Amino acid sequence: MTPHLRDDGPVPERDWGRAVELISSADEIALACHVSPDGDALGSMLAAGMALRAAGRRVTASFGDRRFEVPRLLGFLPGQDLLVEPADYPAAPDLMITFDVAVADRLGVLAENAGKARELIVVDHHPSNPGFGTVNLVDPAAPSTTTLVEELLRRLGLPVDEAVATCLYTGLVTDTGSFRHSSTTPAAHLMAARMVAAGLDPEEISRRLWDRSPFGYLKALSAVLARVTLEAEVGAGLVWTFVTRDDRAAHGLPYDAVEGIIDVVRRVDEAEVAVILKEDDDGAWQVSTRSKGGVDVARLCAALGGGGHARAAGFTSHLTVEETMARLRALL
Ligand code: AMP
Ligand code: MN
Ligand code: MN
Repeated sequence: MTPHLRDDGPVPERDWGRAVELISSADEIALACHVSPDGDALGSMLAAGMALRAAGRRVTASFGDRRFEVPRLLGFLPGQDLLVEPADYPAAPDLMITFDVAVADRLGVLAENAGKARELIVVDHHPSNPGFGTVNLVDPAAPSTTTLVEELLRRLGLPVDEAVATCLYTGLVTDTGSFRHSSTTPAAHLMAARMVAAGLDPEEISRRLWDRSPFGYLKALSAVLARVTLEAEVGAGLVWTFVTRDDRAAHGLPYDAVEGIIDVVRRVDEAEVAVILKEDDDGAWQVSTRSKGGVDVARLCAALGGGGHARAAGFTSHLTVEETMARLRALL
């Protein structure tokens, strides 16, 4: 088999063509990514925003969190001057483009704006994406949404400078777990080569993303790991823990500071599935699940109102920790 060197397989040429046409003729372009943006969501949106603005286009960008705040870890991404609060976002955009959004719900308060958009281009790589746009650039084989944005910019004839590359590369490294996950195709490495050649600093980006934290993080981590539970008899093994608002408050940590803990929990040999429940600032539990490949956690989370990928998925729970875990155990 010839290796798959470019991840543009499943998006029909017709849709790429239609997207290029719409973007080229729009007066103003409104960009949005999913709520609680991660590196891929914010990176793909800001990369597209900067490239379009550099070409003289009118662009606004946002995400629909009630508490609108860029996660501290992603504060280094360039292009944040493009961001507007959801209240200042076009109510009925002529052209809206969503990034890394698997279902319209994940647009949060901007779902309403998307519903009123005249044209909606959906750029995404979640297998569960139903294609909720008028044009859908959805490729489940793409390692990140930024991979699809790189292709879109190429087709628009827009250059990728160092700032755009920093955003595109951030989505690629975060979604592939630094080229460790099964989503790491040959195309992912080839894209990384192009991004690094554009002049970004891979060491600085990975340090910002993974290798720094305030001292309080270690104290919170030790509290959270102290109550980690292994249930070897559930499915092929379940390991789980939780982080409360109080854990974070005790050490002055924002919500996004604890998002990486799942990567410590999921290493456990005795468990196929790892789960962490993170209490957000509104008191809801944001549940992250990871699998080693034997269990499809996207299906598991979809059954609980969420979604994601086969090996990394999530959902939101308004039940208690014990009630939430009971529902998970029953499904496993
Ligand atoms: P996370 O555990 O937050 O890193 O998310 C892992 C994957 O699950 C991502 O691809 C998200 O798109 C998806 N995901 C996380 N939380 C939710 C949610 N509440 N609803 C739908 N999908 C989610
Ligand atoms: Mn995402
Ligand atoms: Mn993604």
